[in-house]
Amino acid sequence: GDKQAVTVIGLGPMGQAMTRAFLAAGHPVTVWNRTASRADEVVAEGAVRADSIEAALAANELVVLSLTDYAAMYALLEPVAAALAGRVVVNLGSDTPEQARKAAEWVGRHGGRQLTGGVQSPPSGIGSPEMSTFYSGPADVFEAHRDTLAVLTGTDYRGADPGLAALLYQLQMDIFWTSMLSAVHALTVARANGISAEEFLPYASSTAASVPDFLAFCAPRLDADDHTGDMDNLAMGVASVEHVLHTTRDSGVDAALPAAVLEIFRRGIAAGHGKDSFTSLTEVFRSGRG
Ligand code: NDP
Repeated sequence: GDKQAVTVIGLGPMGQAMTRAFLAAGHPVTVWNRTASRADEVVAEGAVRADSIEAALAANELVVLSLTDYAAMYALLEPVAAALAGRVVVNLGSDTPEQARKAAEWVGRHGGRQLTGGVQSPPSGIGSPEMSTFYSGPADVFEAHRDTLAVLTGTDYRGADPGLAALLYQLQMDIFWTSMLSAVHALTVARANGISAEEFLPYASSTAASVPDFLAFCAPRLDADDHTGDMDNLAMGVASVEHVLHTTRDSGVDAALPAAVLEIFRRGIAAGHGKDSFTSLTEVFRSGRG
């Protein structure tokens, strides 16, 4: 066929889904995984098993890494770093922007080039153009491989800084974990009071659906450092968070999460923001203490 051949290293749920998406789109795929048995299924479906990591790197210019983090990359590639010469390493594992930048330099020292990716999709969404992946790194490298990478998800190239895709991904995770954990917390309190998670679900979803409008209101004010308390104020916020905390305790549920929220609100009050909007808590965060 005329489709670009790809190597996929790392066959967790993501790497397996990626291999299947490439195969389904007609791309020849060479695979390698530390635990060899994890390749069995995709090999049965048409992927070619490399019998060493060197062979996996030698097979194709385009090498997709789907590993837990960058430490896993070094564990695998440091011993065979000479084989990186001429390769394009697309690292789709999650890690910090700093790690992504260091890795791009390291790959570069060995004659390869790196694209950093931040995949905003679970394995089940791989192969869907509606899903999206942040990419950053050299623009020409991205352009050369854009069509092949688009087999995995839609592509969102953000710029040359190799740390950028990792940063944007971590920002999304910051929102995801905190908001999902707060929902799990609320549903735990609901269940402690005899209300099932499914029963409360429409109300949980309605609150979650109101978030984009609040964000749209807050974002320009954050950028302008304008925390005018015309919509809300921190003093009112503290009282509200206290009610959540006490409801949690009265329900016999662990209160560490609302207690942390309350502590941050109180630090805002202590910094003199009692009459300002809760967006003024950005000042507490920016102080870098705590
Ligand atoms: P994992 O994070 O569990 O990745 C597993 C892969 O990493 C396996 O191939 C595993 O090999 C390999 N690995 C881990 N440590 C080492 C090591 N020290 N040496 C060699 N190989 C190692 O699974 P996922 O597939 O879920 O995720 C891959 C990446 O994608 C992660 O960075 C994750 O954060 C990110 N991601 C995942 C999403 C998801 O929903 N799953 C969504 C978006 C991003 P072995 O099989 O031998 O253990």
